[in-house]
Amino acid sequence: MPLLVMKFGGTSVADLERIGNAAQKVQREVERGYDVIVIVSAMSGRTNELVGWVEQTSPLFDAREYDAVVSSGENVTAGLMALTLQEMGVPARSWQGWQVPINTTDAHSAARFVDIPRDNIDRKFQEGFKVAVVAGFQGLGPDGRITTLGRGGSDTTAVAFAAAFEAERCDIYTDVDGIYTTDPRITSKARKLEKIAFEEMLELASLGAKVLQTRSVELAMRYKVRLRVLSSFEDTDENSGTLVCDEDEIMESKVVNGVAYSREEAKITLVTVEDRPGISAAIFAPLAEAGVNVDMIVQNISEKDYEDHPGSVTDMTFSVPINQVERARKVMEEARAAGTISYEELIADTEVAKVSVVGIGMRSATGVAARMFKALADENINIKVIATSEIKISVLIDRKYMELAVQALHDAFGLEMA
Ligand code: ADP
Ligand code: ASP
Ligand code: MG
Repeated sequence: MPLLVMKFGGTSVADLERIGNAAQKVQREVERGYDVIVIVSAMSGRTNELVGWVEQTSPLFDAREYDAVVSSGENVTAGLMALTLQEMGVPARSWQGWQVPINTTDAHSAARFVDIPRDNIDRKFQEGFKVAVVAGFQGLGPDGRITTLGRGGSDTTAVAFAAAFEAERCDIYTDVDGIYTTDPRITSKARKLEKIAFEEMLELASLGAKVLQTRSVELAMRYKVRLRVLSSFEDTDENSGTLVCDEDEIMESKVVNGVAYSREEAKITLVTVEDRPGISAAIFAPLAEAGVNVDMIVQNISEKDYEDHPGSVTDMTFSVPINQVERARKVMEEARAAGTISYEELIADTEVAKVSVVGIGMRSATGVAARMFKALADENINIKVIATSEIKISVLIDRKYMELAVQALHDAFGLEMA
């Protein structure tokens, strides 16, 4: 039997009516002759609520118990989806992560897949079941406990099942009808893409575009999964939505194909650190050890009156996720107390956002950065930090200008027009 993976996100299973609507889409594929693995998220808002309860109960929570609580939202929707399909006459069975089992690493709340043995689900298909409904976002750690895969992780569950079961396609049903040049909630000028290259989607996802979890794109690229994003609220067929595919399947491409943003950024500046060999290692090694995720880094002449100590001090500025600022501060204070680094002051700016432009065409184009900076300058938006790689340019700016910056860049690179 040919097999499809269909994933439904939180808004697509937000209540019983929507679960019914999603189940109809599944039934249609079964009638076309497919066996289907359905991956479900928790009802929208549920995971946030569960995370809130954990944080309220225990601010420095035990990650195993966090996973025990936070994974539960998906158990509910998996069971309800199986029941809904049964009511429609479709033989379906639900699966929690440990029942498959979906084996993962022991990195609680950020686990990765180790393997997904097919035997149990294959046997059920052989017995005549047409649909396996699998709870997304969760797995089983080597310690025998439930793990979760990080926020948005059901996308990754879907792609991992598509790879393990050699599915014909992995369809990600969500609340938008495809992948756009930027988040359609930020500008109505955003244009739906018919196709997007794995590399570009990987960058967009890692730079904040939540439409797919980064890891899901990585897995799809590695295992050559045909990955598609489409609407769960509209009628859809084989040509609907956006296909994420190899670069050479795409006929036309611009220098910039997408704009991404992330609100969850913070900028930290260490004022007057010594300018000597080894200083960067002394700062960033303990941050890495403490699990602080440093993204952009700049080193510049000190803001402080450097004539007092000419040539000997510098400021070090870097960005971290906003929820890691306090951890970073603590690590820096400990390093200073231990005498491995020195600085006069740590300034944390939590009112910043990162805006990025992405395009594989940048590999061979020049002047992209200049065009980006000019567009921001025309809107009077000050750039605080810049980072570039082969196919992306990111800037850190004041958060209050984030939407304006996304719109200005979308215009400047002509993304509205096909
Ligand atoms: P789900 O609950 O189905 O997983 P998500 O909320 O995680 O859905 O992802 C879908 C959302 O991603 C959309 O509602 C949209 O606001 C956002 N998004 C961000 N960037 C893009 C983009 N480039 N194209 C489409 N949607 C995007
Ligand atoms: N429910 C989880 C979350 O909200 C996983 C997912 O929906 O992909 O992050
Ligand atoms: Mg999602």
